[in-house]
Amino acid sequence: MARVLYIGGLGRSGTTLIERLLGELPGMCALGEVVHLWQRDIRDDERCGCGAAFSACDFWDAVGERAFGGWHQVDVYRVLALREMVERTRHIPRLAAARLPEDHVELIEEYAGYYSAIYEAAAMVSGASVVIDSSKHSALAHCLRWAPGIDLRVVHVVRDARGVAYSWTKTVVRPEAGDGAEMTRYSPTRSALLWNAHNAAFGLLARRGVPVRRVRYEQFLADPRRGLRELAGFAGLDVSAADLDFVTEERAELKPVHSAAGNPMRFTVGQVPLRRDDTWRSALPPTQRRLVGAVCAPLLRAYGYPLRSSR
Ligand SMILES: [Zn+2]
Repeated sequence: MARVLYIGGLGRSGTTLIERLLGELPGMCALGEVVHLWQRDIRDDERCGCGAAFSACDFWDAVGERAFGGWHQVDVYRVLALREMVERTRHIPRLAAARLPEDHVELIEEYAGYYSAIYEAAAMVSGASVVIDSSKHSALAHCLRWAPGIDLRVVHVVRDARGVAYSWTKTVVRPEAGDGAEMTRYSPTRSALLWNAHNAAFGLLARRGVPVRRVRYEQFLADPRRGLRELAGFAGLDVSAADLDFVTEERAELKPVHSAAGNPMRFTVGQVPLRRDDTWRSALPPTQRRLVGAVCAPLLRAYGYPLRSSR
């Protein structure tokens, strides 16, 4: 049974950094956002985190071979069609039910089966006892809950909704696409609504009995070594002080990873500063700051964020 640490939360909440740091620990293997592997890697052959094109990466070649007898055996359009049928945010109420509707059981098992196959193969190829999928999407986590053969543990990363909203207004280029393509941008209203929906969905997942550990990104950064030790324990791994030598309170030293897809930070190698980015406190206009604060007030309060943001 593959043990999977699924990193969930709304994008721009720090999930990629947390995945990269966890991936440095012995016994862990970070896979990136597996949800995008079908389209961006198998179909479009975008770059792996190691820098090679997906089709030229030895790690993913071995994983594809073991999981499916080669990636060419995977019907990407079938996977994408399944995703459309079962893994949308609007499907969460159905996925979170005590029992699945009859006509959905097979579809969800088929869809989740593709992920199980990858997790198992990646664990074998890497020799790791835990694989990390930072797909983030709450609907996928709800699908994986139904997958046989997965020991699913979810790290739910939350970051102050106003910081997240500010981040979604910024332009970020996707280097792996190679054509100057940019990452999606959202208005603060849109990201505030998404923040509520996705975070609530992870709360629901926990109430359905899935092990979910919530991490406040800002708190994690205040003491990353402690945060990593706790998350490793949650994943069932013991880490020694020496295992954490790559990270201090100010910075971490990162090695290349075979991250399938995700935030451009997955290409970062070497020293990275670990710093809270509070730019939003001055850069997000006060009206938008108040709007996001009001829309997200109940969960911000529940997570322990102060509602009045001082500059
Ligand atoms: Zn690679």
